[in-house]
Amino acid sequence: MPISKSRQSPFNTANESGGDRLLQIEAVYDKVPVGLCYLNKDGLVVTINDQLSRLLGVESEKAVGRNIEDIVPHHAQLLRKALEAARRGEVVPDGEVEIAEESFMVSAAGVMNDLGQFSGISVAYTNITDLRQTTRKLQETEQRTAYALESAGQWIWDLNIPANQVWRSPQYRVLLGLDPNAAEKPSVAWDILHPDDRAHTLQAFDDALSGRNPFFEAIYRVKRPDGGDTWILSRGKIVEYGPDGAPMRLLATSVDISMQKRIEEQLSSTVELRLKLEEKLLAANRKLKNLSERDHLTNLPNRRKFSHLLRQAFAQARELHKSLAVIMVDIDYFKTYNDFYGHLGGDDCLVQVGRILNKVMKQTGGSLARFGGEEFAALLFEVPEHDVMKTAKQMLDAVAAMKLKHEASPSGFVSVSIGMAIFDESNRSTIAGPDDLLNLADTALYQSKREGRGRASLWGAFR
Ligand code: GH3
Ligand code: MG
Ligand code: MG
Repeated sequence: MPISKSRQSPFNTANESGGDRLLQIEAVYDKVPVGLCYLNKDGLVVTINDQLSRLLGVESEKAVGRNIEDIVPHHAQLLRKALEAARRGEVVPDGEVEIAEESFMVSAAGVMNDLGQFSGISVAYTNITDLRQTTRKLQETEQRTAYALESAGQWIWDLNIPANQVWRSPQYRVLLGLDPNAAEKPSVAWDILHPDDRAHTLQAFDDALSGRNPFFEAIYRVKRPDGGDTWILSRGKIVEYGPDGAPMRLLATSVDISMQKRIEEQLSSTVELRLKLEEKLLAANRKLKNLSERDHLTNLPNRRKFSHLLRQAFAQARELHKSLAVIMVDIDYFKTYNDFYGHLGGDDCLVQVGRILNKVMKQTGGSLARFGGEEFAALLFEVPEHDVMKTAKQMLDAVAAMKLKHEASPSGFVSVSIGMAIFDESNRSTIAGPDDLLNLADTALYQSKREGRGRASLWGAFR
């Protein structure tokens, strides 16, 4: 409460009217709960009210006309200084004194007489003990609240929205690498944001300002003094609105969530790693399954795979009343081929015959497998008998067309014999299962061998 201006004196005793005024003022002087006195320019007490004389432990009558040094030795110096400042026309700063364990604010102002000359100072002693205590209590409460929040890892900040000026708790300022004691510069509220987090954070702020969101909540990074990033989770609420309803103040807390973020990142990289491993494992399994189902020489499905397909197809054919043909193919005189061309030559022949048979099967929409040794097997699902026969014929022709030399065979070329069996409505009661069908095809193959090889036989057609 600085009192700066000198004013015309109500205590001017230089003339009659001034004396009257003084008496009038003195009448209320004793009623105010403030200690008041008037000192002339020499520091003599001109008047003193009851409050102050009681406070200073002197009788008013005895005090008047005496030096301030005699009456208030403890703070006479303070009053002298005030007197000197006022004499020079300067602002008189407030002082504080302790009297009987109570605190008083001492305010003084220079007084001029009607001629505009300096005539003394008017002094007020205001008891500020309660105010002091209240302020102290308020500070303690504030400190306690701040301590409770901050020890729970929550830093406080308080944003003056129109001014875009922010107050941050000292600990928060330390975390941000700011001087904990320096006052915030204006317009720095959002300067701490990581550029990549700026847009969504300001959006969240805007949502709180517009009322789209009852709270402000955002996760963002701020730069640490060591150059690294700290992840912050901020939550706040608009706590003050202007008379026009405009948001004035946002009170918020910030929490360091860097640790959670790190764990989150580790977790997601672990999950990613796991997914990759799983993918590798699945690929390895697929490869393994493929290997277990393939014949390594011809790369055709092996007998195991064929048996599986046959069982499936047979069950389906039976259930859906569809036809299923099995074709067995056996290379003629293969033992002697091996004997003549060697086992590796035999292998090569197997690969070539397998490849050409597979090509024919693919055109028909069936699938060929290496059944074992120099035998191949194929399935044709729901293919009319006529077309099954045609496919077998194409197989014989395709092998013949290769003109693979077989010096040890009667024809001089590699040939195959074929046996076929078809499961359909006509024999569904006699063919009990896939093995039966396979055996019938085998029987038909035997028939082709017996009839001179290099031919195809359909089971049922020769009975
Ligand atoms: P047929 O005309 O009656 O079928 O007479 P074949 O000699 O072809 O029949 P056989 O069953 O007597 O001989 C089959 C031969 O196939 C015997 C075996 O050494 C040969 N063989 C089986 N698997 C392989 C293989 O993987 N590679 C080679 N090079 N030969 C094989
Ligand atoms: Mg054989
Ligand atoms: Mg053979």
